Amino acid sequence: MNTPRVEIDLIKIRHNARTLVQRLKARGITVTGVTKAVRGNPMIAQAMLDGGVDGLADSRVSNLTRLNKSGIDCSKSLIRTPILSQTDQIIQFCDVSFNSEIDVIAELSKAACGSKVKHSVILIVEMGDMREGILPENLVTIASQVMRLPGIELKGIAANFACLNNIHPDIDTMKRFSELANEIEASCGPYVETVSGGNSASLAWAFGTRATGRVNNLRLGEAILLGTDPVTREQIGGLYVDAFSLVVEVIETKDKPNKPLFTFANPALRALHLIPEAAEQSRSILGIGKQDTDIDGLTLPKGSVFLGATSDHMVLHMPSAQLRVGDEVKLQMNYSALMRIMTAPDTSVIFFEDIGKPNVEPTKDNGPFLEVV
Ligand SMILES: *Cc1c(COP(=O)(O)O)cnc(C)c1O
Repeated sequence: MNTPRVEIDLIKIRHNARTLVQRLKARGITVTGVTKAVRGNPMIAQAMLDGGVDGLADSRVSNLTRLNKSGIDCSKSLIRTPILSQTDQIIQFCDVSFNSEIDVIAELSKAACGSKVKHSVILIVEMGDMREGILPENLVTIASQVMRLPGIELKGIAANFACLNNIHPDIDTMKRFSELANEIEASCGPYVETVSGGNSASLAWAFGTRATGRVNNLRLGEAILLGTDPVTREQIGGLYVDAFSLVVEVIETKDKPNKPLFTFANPALRALHLIPEAAEQSRSILGIGKQDTDIDGLTLPKGSVFLGATSDHMVLHMPSAQLRVGDEVKLQMNYSALMRIMTAPDTSVIFFEDIGKPNVEPTKDNGPFLEVV
């Protein structure tokens, strides 16, 4: 089989989605499945839907178009604020878009009227992450402008956390966000149907409080796909962290002298060599590099030491159990590594379902983790 290869267990993705959907349902919160890390892959999107997510969302129109063309039938949201030059495509392929610029919404309105469709808009509110969003004090004014635009329906509001600033939202911030829905209704009238309280980083809040206020939706990618909390990088209790594996191949194994075969021009650089110089060192090269993925986001094979990576090579020191040329090595990925490998042109993707195995509960890592309660 080809490498690099991503092996995907759809049963684990379905389990993660279902667990989160059921537990959040008890708090009046629906889940939108976010497919941007897997490039809008229809098989994975379907596994999320089978797990009970309410709709799908992606940051790119191209990915949502892929989902549309594969016949996946559900509500599709564009969660990156639209690129102005793409408004026609957005109207064609997305039911909902998240917006923070009135000029863009005005263009969406024109495009919607031109195609005789209704397009739903969610206003994204700046609640402290300082990436995209309308400042809370301007929200009501913008909402009333949106309501006057033909072809556009104001569907709700959304907050986003932990993208630029890696911090969980706190109870006070979420309370303030929730109240904004009431403020819009009080001053411009329409029912604010969707109050979307963020991404996987908001799960700690959702499971940590009974008072979820008006928040009735979360948009989850990482928690469903990798079973981890994006802020702490810890496993979320009850979820699988190994739905995805990256399989790579050993392309060279040799003992090489640790002592460099050339002299350093700058003697100070020698001081950077931490491994004793005299020893021969067994090195293996894996056929994966910076062009394929985020090398820093990969787990290393047991006992190995990372020596470096270039665009197409990853070099490891293997003290025991030498790897031979042609051996396959299985690695786990974080979200950033997953996102990069799924969009790399040379990646093969295979799906399997562990149907033969009993449905064992995922084991827990040691240490603190967020419990899905
Ligand atoms: C990426 C993204 C999400 C999903 O984030 P996860 O951490 O993967 O759950 C949700 N909302 C927006 C706006 C995003 O950009």
